[in-house]
Amino acid sequence: MKQVILTGDRPTGRLHVGHYVGSLKERVRLQNSGLYNEIYIMIADAQALTDNAEHPEKVRQNIMQVALDYLSCGLDPEKSTLFIQSMVPELTELTFYYMNLVTVSRVQRNPTVKAEIQMRNFEASIPVGFFCYPISQAADITAFRATAVPVGEDQIPMLEQCKEIVHKFNTVYGETLTDPQIILPQNQSCLRLPGIDGKAKMSKSLGNCIYLSDTEEDVRKKVMSMFTDPNHLRIEDPGRVEGNPVFIYLDAFSRPEYFAEFLPEYSGLDELKAHYTRGGLGDVKVKKFLNRCLQAELAPIRERRAYWEQRPEEVFEILKAGCETAQNTAAATLGDVRRAMRIDYFEDSNLLK
Ligand code: ATP
Ligand code: MG
Repeated sequence: MKQVILTGDRPTGRLHVGHYVGSLKERVRLQNSGLYNEIYIMIADAQALTDNAEHPEKVRQNIMQVALDYLSCGLDPEKSTLFIQSMVPELTELTFYYMNLVTVSRVQRNPTVKAEIQMRNFEASIPVGFFCYPISQAADITAFRATAVPVGEDQIPMLEQCKEIVHKFNTVYGETLTDPQIILPQNQSCLRLPGIDGKAKMSKSLGNCIYLSDTEEDVRKKVMSMFTDPNHLRIEDPGRVEGNPVFIYLDAFSRPEYFAEFLPEYSGLDELKAHYTRGGLGDVKVKKFLNRCLQAELAPIRERRAYWEQRPEEVFEILKAGCETAQNTAAATLGDVRRAMRIDYFEDSNLLK
């Protein structure tokens, strides 16, 4: 079977290091593994509009920013199709048909939808489009016949819902859609990177992010201001590493070679954690090390961003070509869907049969 990847991000802001460890890094690894026949990376502008209907300019401005973040992280337009969701109207049509296969109460039970409704303080005024976004996400995934969807942990309920739609569609209309598998980051601490404020998730909407495009100085300031163990007041105090964002970030970003280079007095992360736990290790020292690790990870990304920022016309052309490729694939799937649903009236004089 053809191996296909579909994943994406909402253009509601520049991408941050949570996106990087949760999904982007994995995408680049999979892209370069050579195991996939097709890779589609979507800038989900239509989805972003479901809770930003009054801010179209924000969504528009962030299309380029997200595209620059993609290219900076090593997504390669020769290997991956980068495209914009709303430029593929077939996705909207698929969404409309899938809506009939999902109940309101099923969407209401989706834990990610519940959490996001609460986070956005929608209360009784939830836009219908926002409520339906898990269904539109199923359309995105199935339109490309994705077999693999590399995403962060918050997307598990979305993939479950998508698989249910695939199953229901295939049961009602005959085997048509491809069943996708979720690919989560291998490193536990990358499943859901917390914010620098210690909140459970680094998120554009919460303003607690280290952005991939932050300057060296921005990153340093953010790291030095990070939330740590509130009971670790003096250096001598024993500290907690569990749930401590600085140590979660070290789990996500430190590598043995960074210890050798920046903190050779420790053999590795286990020894650093043990010292912090028993007391005698200050937050400032740990944060300075984390800053060195992050700067080392971000340096090549920054360098590539500087390259692409000088070439906006090329980025524009990459997106335009990507939209065309994506539309061709989605149109073929939509054709299969219409045929399966018996609404392909003018194909082969079908209406006469
Ligand atoms: P918004 O606040 O607008 O929803 P977001 O920061 O949650 O933005 P999305 O565009 O919704 O970002 O998410 C894109 C991808 O990045 C998804 O696969 C998601 O699982 C992953 N992701 C987002 N935030 C994190 C995080 N803090 N840790 C790990 N993965 C993340
Ligand atoms: Mg989100």
